[in-house]
Amino acid sequence: MIWCPPVLPSVSSSMLPTSRTLRLSLYTLLIVAGAVLAATLAIRHAERQALEEDAARANQQLALYANALHTLIDRYRALPAVLALDPQLRSALAGPVSAEQQTALNLKLEKINGAAQSSTLELLDRTGLAVAASNWRLPSSYVGHNYGFRPYFSQTRTQGTGRFYAVGVTSGIPGYFLSSAVLGDNDEFLGAMVVKLEFPELEREWSQGSDTLLVSDARGIIFIANQPGWRYRSLRPLNAGDHAELKATRQYDKQPLTPLEFQSLRRFDDNSDLTRVEGPAGTANYLWESLPLTAEGWTLHLLRRPQVAFEDLRNAGLAAAGAWLTLVFLLLFLNQRWRLAKLRQRSREELERLVEERTRDLRTAQDGLVQSAKLAALGQMSAALAHEINQPLTAQRMQLATLRLLLDHGRVEDAYKALKPVDDMLTRMAALTGHLKTFARKSPSGLRERLDLAAVVDQSLQLLDARLRDEHISTVLHLTRPAWVRGDAIRLEQVLINLLRNALDAMHDKPCKRLEIRLEADEQLWRLTVADNGGGIAEEHLANVFDPFFTTKPVGDGLGLGLAVSFAIVHESGGRLSVDNGENGAVFTMTLPIDLEVPG
Ligand code: ADP
Repeated sequence: MIWCPPVLPSVSSSMLPTSRTLRLSLYTLLIVAGAVLAATLAIRHAERQALEEDAARANQQLALYANALHTLIDRYRALPAVLALDPQLRSALAGPVSAEQQTALNLKLEKINGAAQSSTLELLDRTGLAVAASNWRLPSSYVGHNYGFRPYFSQTRTQGTGRFYAVGVTSGIPGYFLSSAVLGDNDEFLGAMVVKLEFPELEREWSQGSDTLLVSDARGIIFIANQPGWRYRSLRPLNAGDHAELKATRQYDKQPLTPLEFQSLRRFDDNSDLTRVEGPAGTANYLWESLPLTAEGWTLHLLRRPQVAFEDLRNAGLAAAGAWLTLVFLLLFLNQRWRLAKLRQRSREELERLVEERTRDLRTAQDGLVQSAKLAALGQMSAALAHEINQPLTAQRMQLATLRLLLDHGRVEDAYKALKPVDDMLTRMAALTGHLKTFARKSPSGLRERLDLAAVVDQSLQLLDARLRDEHISTVLHLTRPAWVRGDAIRLEQVLINLLRNALDAMHDKPCKRLEIRLEADEQLWRLTVADNGGGIAEEHLANVFDPFFTTKPVGDGLGLGLAVSFAIVHESGGRLSVDNGENGAVFTMTLPIDLEVPG
């Protein structure tokens, strides 16, 4: 048999070194690009997340600042309303104010202002003229000035209350003006009580932190800022109407109101952006949080420099790149394993196919061997057969002559007696030819019928009966019956005939020939031994007797196939055939599994 290695996939042209190197480089490039992309995305995500978290924190803080501002304003909101009810003020405004009345009012307002800790208190008559003010002693005193042009005054006259943030035209100090109407007995408008709030305290307090805090009015003009340079910058372009109104109300007096240049880089929500601002301290990016203060019509802004830690971003990038590479290598590993498994599967299938093919070949060869061995045996047996048949034929002819004589003499009784041996001889001859017929037939391999091994021994002995008798073989039988096994009767018979014939051959020149056949159960097996006293097998040949064409017999006598075929047949039936030397000769042992099935 020629061993052919399993066919493995050949190296395809796409796997030639150059294209492989190219592919490898491409894969490496893709993996690296993927890692870079993953890192970039992760960094951007981490940055965005950090910014959003920062923005959320800033927003919370913004709410606190707004609260502080509200509280401050609310504290003073009721003050002008309460003072407007003061009879002294009301009566003073009812008619022209005398110098004594004015002094008394100035003193009163000065005292209340001190107690309430407001910036300024002033009393305007129905034309908007300040008749008294808490700052009457100062050069920037409001007394004698007319503030009828201020929106809070007109608001108070029409709506009863007014509010307005403006730069003081007299003092130049900005502040929030809250006013309440002073009404006469018939609810007629007599004038307005005004409290001015300034926010230096607040601005000072707000400037403690690093954040930039701004308050803008409805037009987007910043009027409170905790850092220098931001105040009076406009967040939106002002139109002609705005300019006209600002001029009329002199809200920011002579302030230039230059626009603040900024640009949103990233929008988190309506009131939260990452913004690039060309601020007073130069261009910088800020997280810009806004909170509308609806009661006042203002907007509170908090600008914070984003503080995304470089380490965090780097770690996020590295982690993402690491995760990507792990994923890629895992996929590569799995792919490799899958390919290997496929290759192995293919090799295994190939191997199985080869083994099957070879087994088929072997079986065919073996069947051929069996057949040729049978033919060889048949040839040898033909001689035996001729001898076996010739003898009885001669004997029968003589018996027939005797029979005729007896009948001639009317000895019918004796003639009947003489018929018996003829009958026996014919029966034997029929049995013999029957065996030979089945022996020559090629039996299908793998037949496994239930049979009695002892009967197989009987048949074989019967086939060799003539030779056994001729050569004066004393046969000793120890057969356990029945000995059920599974196999092919004809083949097993062939095995036995081989063993017996070899034994007879071995004892050929021995004066006393003794053949011993034993059949006994040994655990799960039937053990059949054929022992002779033919002198045994030479030690160096013991290992070869089952080899095909091993023979020690002269050319023409032995083919050296008998034992090889027998060995194969016994193996095929699930048994074993072995040899050893006994006391006087060879001992062949055949074992076959006991068939336990009860014959049905
Ligand atoms: P063949 O009988 O044609 O030689 P076998 O395969 O039957 O082929 O036997 C192979 C050889 O084994 C024989 O030639 C003989 O040397 C040896 N052998 C087989 N049986 C015996 C036996 N009972 N005693 C001694 N030698 C034996």
